[in-house]
Amino acid sequence: MSKPIVAIVGRPNVGKSTLFNLLAGDKISIVKDTPGVTRDRIYAEVNWLDKDFTLIDTGGIEPDSQDIILSQMREQAQIAIDTADVILFITDVRQGLVDSDAKVADLLRRSRKPVLLVVNKVDNFNKFLPDVYEFYNLGIGEPIPISAASRLGIGDMLDEVVKHFPSNAKEEEEDDRPRIAIVGKPNVGKSSIINKLLGEERVIVSDIAGTTRDAIDTQIRHNKKDYVFIDTAGLRRKSKIKEELERYSIIRTVTAVERADIVLIVIDAIEGITEQDAKIAGIAHERGKGIVIVVNKWDAIEKNNKTTKEYEHEVRRVLSYMPYAQIMYVSALTGQRLPKLFDMIDVVIENQTLRIATGVLNEIMMEAVAMQQPPSDKGKRLRLYYITQVGIKPPTFVIFVNDKELMHFSYQRYLENKIREAFGFKGTSLKFFIRERK
Ligand code: GDP
Ligand code: GDP
Repeated sequence: MSKPIVAIVGRPNVGKSTLFNLLAGDKISIVKDTPGVTRDRIYAEVNWLDKDFTLIDTGGIEPDSQDIILSQMREQAQIAIDTADVILFITDVRQGLVDSDAKVADLLRRSRKPVLLVVNKVDNFNKFLPDVYEFYNLGIGEPIPISAASRLGIGDMLDEVVKHFPSNAKEEEEDDRPRIAIVGKPNVGKSSIINKLLGEERVIVSDIAGTTRDAIDTQIRHNKKDYVFIDTAGLRRKSKIKEELERYSIIRTVTAVERADIVLIVIDAIEGITEQDAKIAGIAHERGKGIVIVVNKWDAIEKNNKTTKEYEHEVRRVLSYMPYAQIMYVSALTGQRLPKLFDMIDVVIENQTLRIATGVLNEIMMEAVAMQQPPSDKGKRLRLYYITQVGIKPPTFVIFVNDKELMHFSYQRYLENKIREAFGFKGTSLKFFIRERK
């Protein structure tokens, strides 16, 4: 199930980052050993009243001149329109209504996306409330007064946000076509891959009804099966500023990954794997999606009988946190091995939805425990009572133990490896919850 996306838009200095940090708290999605991902406060997982959503701050670097503020705001607003289910348009009661607010409001209004007009820095509701009414003039509805710094009005604002979440959850569940996102740095060959796939297969390009986003997804039929490729063309924005470009690339990745079952992470064989690739891969890993690493432009490098092995070694080294990911070497130019992508997608989907019977799981766990004693601390030894699978996509397990403090990461990884030895689960991460049973 994909989570709704909420995007923050607004002029510099209205308090976007303050609000973002407040909502994200320390829950900014962190996988400890995922390099790079944590540094960006661009997106975060937020929970309100049992509803989870992904929060995105579209505001990038501070423009240093007044004239480019408006063009940057327009760009941010467009990104929000392209990707979000709900847009939070932040204004500032202390600066009052300014011209660029009105222009951006026009753009947002025309998009027909749910937009909430948030007036920040209302640190004292009695004193400033009259000034808030001025914002009605923007014509995008009732202003919601908040103070991000003093944490006022935040609950009421979030109540409004979750009211606008789409209720198409059922439709999405009934749709059993695999949903695939193709992600990667600029110029690695994402569009070439999709174009080649489109060219080779009997193609139906369709506007898929029932999705709330304006993105037009592409359906490809292969061996009588339909696959939906998530299109993010609307986000292929150009920017001259490197930081901005990277920000867009991350937003684009996060929103595409959110909607996907399987993520194809494309890497440029000529360039080799880089830190930025690792950052992008980390996003898919954190979300527990099925993953295939697609090394593209395989035609363009010189090969000998060691090349594949060396490549794999390097990819595994940089992406050490996702040893389960599958690797494929393809060429969008020649079409080499591209049709095999579909077989790989099928395998990964199957593994993501695999359910293992409790009895079999416990046999594996007990065998593993017999082969390697669980860790102990200060004379107390970890005891594992019971394991059961509680979910799929990704396969999720609960292990009941005597004391969860005693469960070391390394022992958990050992158990994970034993489960993988028995059942494969290639291409998907596994999730474990450790619970105490006294
Ligand atoms: P951004 O550029 O929109 O991300 O704005 P920031 O979050 O960086 O905030 C800009 C300035 O406004 C900072 O000095 C914040 O401390 C201040 N600020 C943010 N929220 C509030 C608020 O609710 N009340 C007041 N008085 N100041 C705020
Ligand atoms: P995107 O930005 O990731 O969508 O990348 P593009 O699909 O636009 O490709 C970027 C450049 O790489 C273009 O010049 C392509 O012709 C080239 N390219 C893409 N795939 C291949 C490939 O398999 N082999 C070679 N040699 N070049 C490729």
